[in-house]
Amino acid sequence: MSLKINILSPHIDDAAYGLSLHIARFVSSKLPVTIINCFTVTKWTAVFVPGGVKEVSLLRAQEDMAFNKVFNSALNITNLALLDAPLRNGYVLQPGPFVENELTLVEEIKSYLVANVEGLLLCPLGIGNHIDHAICREAVLELYKKFDVLFYEDLPYAYRITPKEIELHVRKLEDKLDVKLMSQVDGLQNCTIDKEQVIRLYKSQMNDEICSEIISYMNLLTGERLWGEPRVMEQLGNALNC
Ligand SMILES: [Zn+2]
Repeated sequence: MSLKINILSPHIDDAAYGLSLHIARFVSSKLPVTIINCFTVTKWTAVFVPGGVKEVSLLRAQEDMAFNKVFNSALNITNLALLDAPLRNGYVLQPGPFVENELTLVEEIKSYLVANVEGLLLCPLGIGNHIDHAICREAVLELYKKFDVLFYEDLPYAYRITPKEIELHVRKLEDKLDVKLMSQVDGLQNCTIDKEQVIRLYKSQMNDEICSEIISYMNLLTGERLWGEPRVMEQLGNALNC
């Protein structure tokens, strides 16, 4: 049976920014892909969009559907309808330890994952200190032993720090989990999609600067990078090659 791929995406667009090339490969290898978007109740945009929470949340879900169309709507997309950070606590960057309502969200995401996820789970590394990304990551870290987890890089944030800082971020994660993580870059070879074209489908979140950061990062790495334990990396490699 094909390996099931589950992508935990804090916001609608994080999976695409960090993993479009991988998603294209999963789909062409006929692996079933599910994207779990968490904080989908939002009025956050990078460009002016008329309307409030209802309109913006709907528009963003439609942008995700346009992304899915690139793959003939092969992706299974779930929106958890959680309030995003600006609507919830009013800040975006994590100022300190999780506060009570954030811990509740960690528990909610954990319950969802336990009840719904089997196969491989792709989780954001939490680079950039965005509180919603940190909440998603925390949910996965607390369940780490239950799942086969690989981490992907949060974009455009990973482009904004140095390679040394990324390494340090990963080393801290290794200490926290008491494991060794390896990295693997993949995606540009035999690629069936144009990453710039597909990330630009998230029009309300996109401007030339963000787009160029994400594409520059892809060019720098010659693909997209995943981090994880060798046995999980191998599991994915086998699933993609058969
Ligand atoms: Zn995000």
